[in-house]
Amino acid sequence: MNSSLEKTLLASIRTIPDYPKPGILFRDITTLLGDARAFRRAVDELVHPFAGTKIDKIAGIEARGFILGGAIAHQLSAGFVPIRKKGKLPHETVRVAYSLEYGVDEMEMHKDAIAPGERVLLVDDLIATGGTAEGAVKLLKQMGADIAAACFVIDLPDLGGRAKLETLGVEVRTLVA
Ligand code: AMP
Repeated sequence: MNSSLEKTLLASIRTIPDYPKPGILFRDITTLLGDARAFRRAVDELVHPFAGTKIDKIAGIEARGFILGGAIAHQLSAGFVPIRKKGKLPHETVRVAYSLEYGVDEMEMHKDAIAPGERVLLVDDLIATGGTAEGAVKLLKQMGADIAAACFVIDLPDLGGRAKLETLGVEVRTLVA
């Protein structure tokens, strides 16, 4: 990625100290989403490696992965599949537990959202420890998806998420660290 794009994206991301808990530096992408140029450039850059390749579905992680994933799905003429926190999806689901920084939670997707062999791109705003994305990868693999890659705007490299996904054989693409 060229450095002017990196600068544009970094300048558009707001950092909130001590949110949601003391000691956490929250990387807020609402400012990126609200900046038309930054939003378009982030989506274009995430789409670029996959333009012209076969991508059947974008799986977006609740909630910011829905916004980015919807735009990416539109650009790639792919379907969109939401991966949600437990209890939010109305039809039959598959569910997996995943680890958070402190504790565990569960996420779900609809059982019929992805057909075996479909090529899927996983999308979220940020990868930190990789626990959330790892849960999503497990769900997608359970459905028989062929995972093309996992894409994020922001990587927090010290927290090891990229390495965790790569150990699972998933290609990771991020725009800024
Ligand atoms: P993790 O499972 O540790 O990789 O955390 C990734 C998920 O938590 C993503 O859905 C992010 O939106 C959110 N998240 C974790 N850490 C931060 C942070 N410092 N700033 C903003 N979002 C975060």
